[in-house]
Amino acid sequence: MDSSFDSFGLARPILRAIESRGYTTPTRIQVDSIPLILNGKDVLGCAQTGTGKTAAFALPAIQQLLAKEDDASHSLRVLVLAPTRELAVQINECFEAYSRHTNVRQTVIHGGVGAMPQIQRLRKGMDIVVATPGRLLDLLAQGHVHLDDVQLLVVDEADMMLDMGFIDDVSKIVNSANNRKQTLLFSATLPEEILSVADQWLNTPKTVNVVPDAIPIHLIKQSVIYVENINKDLLLIQYLFATPRARTLIFVRTKKDAERVAKNINLVNLDALPLHGNKSQGRRRKAIDAFKSNEPPILVATDVAARGLDFENISHVINYSLPEYPEFYIHRVGRTGRAGAKGEAISLCASHERYHLQQIEALAGITLRVKQWNFDDFGNFPQLERAHQKRKKTRKPLEANGDSAPLDREEPEQSGWVKGKKKKKKKKKKRRSRVITMDDINSKAAHTKAAGKFAPKKRSLD
Ligand code: AMP
Repeated sequence: MDSSFDSFGLARPILRAIESRGYTTPTRIQVDSIPLILNGKDVLGCAQTGTGKTAAFALPAIQQLLAKEDDASHSLRVLVLAPTRELAVQINECFEAYSRHTNVRQTVIHGGVGAMPQIQRLRKGMDIVVATPGRLLDLLAQGHVHLDDVQLLVVDEADMMLDMGFIDDVSKIVNSANNRKQTLLFSATLPEEILSVADQWLNTPKTVNVVPDAIPIHLIKQSVIYVENINKDLLLIQYLFATPRARTLIFVRTKKDAERVAKNINLVNLDALPLHGNKSQGRRRKAIDAFKSNEPPILVATDVAARGLDFENISHVINYSLPEYPEFYIHRVGRTGRAGAKGEAISLCASHERYHLQQIEALAGITLRVKQWNFDDFGNFPQLERAHQKRKKTRKPLEANGDSAPLDREEPEQSGWVKGKKKKKKKKKKRRSRVITMDDINSKAAHTKAAGKFAPKKRSLD
């Protein structure tokens, strides 16, 4: 990659901003996309988060606005659509950073917060708007925003829009911005449906595909432990205690799992927060910011809630459950090992997940190293056992096969925007939890009681 940011012909204020972000060399998607976008081409980009794709579209977008800087109207000329509020906020932050030495104005629009401040900012005139589709459609219908002047439209994370059922909303918006000169569509995967909308929305697009090299999967130490669901909680806690870690991201399949697993981790006095779509916008933002500043250093997230979010310095990714779509494994694991760092990813695979494991190995072209786990080598956690027993009592005929969280019992999280579903007020009983130390973990005495209940019958888990 012999390009430099200078070679793109970007304006000085943009180059200054790039410099102060500490970027020295453009990433591959930037090398491939920036010249095309500056040339006015439509682009279909197959790239995921971590590749530098936001700058790949944001830098030329700002450049194009600067080229017409005499236009002081600040009418909305660049519109970016993102599937979740967090992503929209993150993209807007990038625009803010890259345009900080210019007069370009930008704002972010998303649901879950009052519309008034957003309307007031729009009234001032914004050159760039980053929006989630739902709130933007509302404001369009109310006449608070007009898309007539939009020149450049970016649809980011298009496959996620599809997964979350937003494609029709996005379609309405795309059709409303019908004076646009240029459309860019970025997607982590390119299923049929995305190719079909790309065909409708883009005009003879250039395709940019950086997926194969985007994630340095070979740099990430990956292994799998075969363990049934009923033993996953104990194994996870033992693993967390036994492994020197920095920031750790745990992926679960459902919102309920995210809550339960984070709770279990807190029970043993490690610090973790759940992140999923049933959390209010404020709480999700708080969890993300807290995790970014390492307090707590453990986040338990669903794919939908964590997708696209840019977390740096993740030392460990733990797949508490394997994803149904093998691409998600790549996304998850790619959160560690960024920028050449050596990350570690561990997957807990129950027998019903073996099929997913095969799919992952086929897609990634790797065979995961099988790690043996002997529960007796690690500590025991009576708090965990108590929580498990309590859950068991409150459940009806628990899983014939003994699984504590069987597949298909709860749907995996589909959308970060599920509204108004929560009603139950759980009676909370505060329980004092004992501090677990490494001494506990190593002590023979601690192994005995609960290990018998949690540990699998067979010691060899393979
Ligand atoms: P993105 O894929 O847009 O979410 O970007 C992932 C991360 O890469 C973000 O933290 C960006 O700030 C960072 N980044 C983007 N472009 C570059 C670059 N050329 N050099 C170094 N880091 C970059």
